[in-house]
Amino acid sequence: MGYGCSVSANTRPRGVTREEEEMALKITEECINCGACEPECPNTAITQGDDIYVIDPAKCTECKGAHDAPACAGVCPVDCCVSA
Ligand code: SF4
Ligand code: SF4
Repeated sequence: MGYGCSVSANTRPRGVTREEEEMALKITEECINCGACEPECPNTAITQGDDIYVIDPAKCTECKGAHDAPACAGVCPVDCCVSA
């Protein structure tokens, strides 16, 4: 029993709730403060922090809708823009 209920549950939209938290990149301490990533971000999610550059996870969309891949990760010379 309960098959009808299971089918209904599968209609829940994707990309909400928990997945939302994961839709952001972060900058690791490997950052050399070159500043290359900051102007590349379509959402102005990147700013210079006290020690290294930082990504505001509330603004970062992983460049969805703007680029095929995260722009910051594409320009970072030390590959320190990674999935959060
Ligand atoms: S992945 Fe895109 S939106 Fe997110 S911080 Fe990098 S450049 Fe900005
Ligand atoms: S491009 Fe990479 S190394 Fe340069 S400031 Fe951004 S995160 Fe740091």
